[in-house]
Amino acid sequence: MGIWRGLVLAGVGLGLGGVAAGRVEAQRLPGGVRPEHYAMTITPDLQAATFTGSETIDVVLDAPMSAITLNAAEIEFGVVKAWSREQGTGNREQQAAEGREQGTGNREQQTAVVTLDVAKEQATMTFARALPAGRVVLEIAYKGILNNKLRGFYLSKTKVRRYGVTQFEATDARRAFPSFDEPALKATFDVTLAVDAGDTVISNTKIVSDRPGPVAGKHTVAFATTPRMSTYLVAWLVGDFKCSEGKSDGVPIRVCATPDKAKLTRFALDSAKQTLHDYDQYFAIKYPLAKLDLVAIPDFEAGAMENFGCITFRETALLAEEKDGVLAVKKEVAKTVAHEMSHQWFGDLVTPVWWDNLWLNEGFATWMETKESAKAHPQWKYEEDAAVEMDRTMNEDAGRTTRAVRAQAETPDEINELFDDVAYGKAGAVIGMVENWVGEDVFRRGVQAYLAEHAYGNATAEDFWGTMARVSGLAVDKVMRSFVEQQGVPLVRFGRAAGTQIPVKQERFLLDASSKAATESESWAIPVCFKGSTCSVLTPGTTAIPRTQGEEFFDANAGDKGYYRTAYSAGELKAIAANAETGLTVEERIGLLGDRWALVRAGEGTVGEFLDLALAVKTDPDAAVMESALAKIGSIETRIATDDDLKLLGGVVRREFGGVYAGLGKGGKHEPDERAELRDTLFEALGRVGDPLVMAEAASETQALFAGRRPADEAVLDTSLALTVAKGDATMYAKMLQVAQTESDPGLKQDALHTLTRFQAPELVERTLEYAVSDEVRSQDSWTMITRLLSRRETQDAAWGFVQQHWAEIERKSTLNSGARIVEAAGTFCAVERRDEVASFFAGHPVASSERTLARTIDSINDCIHLRATQEPELRQWLEAHAGR
Ligand SMILES: [Zn+2]
Repeated sequence: MGIWRGLVLAGVGLGLGGVAAGRVEAQRLPGGVRPEHYAMTITPDLQAATFTGSETIDVVLDAPMSAITLNAAEIEFGVVKAWSREQGTGNREQQAAEGREQGTGNREQQTAVVTLDVAKEQATMTFARALPAGRVVLEIAYKGILNNKLRGFYLSKTKVRRYGVTQFEATDARRAFPSFDEPALKATFDVTLAVDAGDTVISNTKIVSDRPGPVAGKHTVAFATTPRMSTYLVAWLVGDFKCSEGKSDGVPIRVCATPDKAKLTRFALDSAKQTLHDYDQYFAIKYPLAKLDLVAIPDFEAGAMENFGCITFRETALLAEEKDGVLAVKKEVAKTVAHEMSHQWFGDLVTPVWWDNLWLNEGFATWMETKESAKAHPQWKYEEDAAVEMDRTMNEDAGRTTRAVRAQAETPDEINELFDDVAYGKAGAVIGMVENWVGEDVFRRGVQAYLAEHAYGNATAEDFWGTMARVSGLAVDKVMRSFVEQQGVPLVRFGRAAGTQIPVKQERFLLDASSKAATESESWAIPVCFKGSTCSVLTPGTTAIPRTQGEEFFDANAGDKGYYRTAYSAGELKAIAANAETGLTVEERIGLLGDRWALVRAGEGTVGEFLDLALAVKTDPDAAVMESALAKIGSIETRIATDDDLKLLGGVVRREFGGVYAGLGKGGKHEPDERAELRDTLFEALGRVGDPLVMAEAASETQALFAGRRPADEAVLDTSLALTVAKGDATMYAKMLQVAQTESDPGLKQDALHTLTRFQAPELVERTLEYAVSDEVRSQDSWTMITRLLSRRETQDAAWGFVQQHWAEIERKSTLNSGARIVEAAGTFCAVERRDEVASFFAGHPVASSERTLARTIDSINDCIHLRATQEPELRQWLEAHAGR
């Protein structure tokens, strides 16, 4: 599935607390039945929010069967029939043994009795006489509902009309058609839709016929047979879409949206054209279908979904002004398009056998999205973003309750919970580490071999790393297995270099080091790459690594590509820090800051030592490094500082960074992006601590915006708004609310909704919360507003009170994963009483697919409590020494 990251708040993450207790019994289909082909006609009634379906499924039975079980949820079965299609040769003996006559051609039809197992989302069709082994046709008439939960076949609405759209990953195809809904049970599909005259229909393949009927006022649209594919990748969309069209390597590409937003599709079209051509070359397999559509859906749960040939997106992840678009929006669009398109090969053409290897899909696409976007837009510095992401992911993965990348999952709830930062961020980082180690060309050859061997089929992680080991001649299997099957992050300690050797040892890195048991023995095979030198694989037995002679310092995570934390001896660290600005790349500087802060959180070193390092980078010319340093200072403000500390720390930030900001001067039309970003980063940090000059500037920018004038400094406009409305009154609130209600550009509308969550006056916070759960706000936006309020120190108590009191209303608007995101956001609390409230509230109000998330949330609150207790006195001491200076 698409990118969650954009939707998940930074600093709030996911994880696993062991294998879920009280596991529902295994819910896989019994087997013995192989679907080969589905042909279905779906007739939706958008006004009544229902649909009817008729389908035939060609299956092959391994043995005679009198009962066949498939998946179905919220489906009402009509008449179900079956007949054999064996032509009377292969099964003669079997038939004779059963004492029945061997017919020729079509066999007798039997009508089934259907029984439902609602909990297992299965239906069993029982026949009076056993169906023979071999080819059998199942014919099923059924009815279903268009739900409002953004899963299965669901309803999406605009002010003008209703849409019927699909989202099947992971286990929701069964809500749209009875099916063998497991990824290994691939088949071909003929999809036909009977819809209102004038309605547009889009599906995985090209339209082969479009005829009036079956009744007046309808037309029936049939799509070409798909390649062999998994059920979760089928899609169809009904409504009114307008598209912009192009072509790449001979493949027609369309980017579609509701008609009012069709003007925002050009940027994504250019991205898709470039990406298709690049991937044709990278994978050495031509894009497998005859067309590609990318479609923005008004109501959408995830970021995007890689349906084969018919990729669906949240509007904000696909639509952008081509010329004057906001940089962050365009960056996200290009990245999301690159992510989903990589799945067309890696995921759709070759699919994991089961969901336990979902990480291979998502890790690969997460890595590839950066690689492709960085190639297409080198000026947008995607690699720096990836370094920031990896730092965040490693912190999420350093809790006691994290999970192994490959985790067992049987039930839909367990499967849904696997779509987390471990599957995306960590798996992506591990794949990037392997590419960096084996080399770009060798890695690409391995990917090509893996895809060629399993095209239109399924594969496992063993297939992937086995192929990669064979192609590279390196122990890729050992390295990947150690990162995929063990939970947690390795910490590599480098001792004082003696001659040509650097002493080294590895251990598991835990933010709460006190929870580490003496008996724990995790160890990894880690490709450790020294800057300017080669990589060596560190195994548990390795005690020293050779060092290149004559260097002033060494950095043991070249390019910040390795998924591990580093710790150096004091002398080595000093040498690295002294050379950081000139001797390290931006990514390496981000990695260094990340490792040092993580170690402080784990109790090694003090917050004061970290602040010394952060102040030392205040002249760093790179916005991402500055942001990294300032975000960690922000963490100190929210996690460690008391209100008194906050005043002193604010003074230090103003004194140290105010001059840097002033020195950058004013923005202007021709200001380079890099400098604009750097200014905005400093502006935000200074605003956060109430710098009077910054606050005055922010107020005047906001005033200009509300007065309809062109703001003086576009680079700091969004930040200005966020800073100003924090103290905003009801009049300002009313203006912002009006923007949220009337804005038609999806990106700007979302910004307006998020700006509402910035108001801090208690009565306005209450209004925002009430608005978020009202019918005026889409479900997809409702939970993002609540989690934002819940994650900020200034509003979290009010938001938490509201969540507890209005849980029924929140649940009414809930979607597949929204509840889990709220559980996750509660992990930003930092007090014992809140922790206990959170634990007890969610024990009494269990949220689907959030068992691990809740454990992680409690873990995260505990870490914060511990950090505050140990580091607040240290912070106080440092502030006393530095604040007055
Ligand atoms: Zn994905």
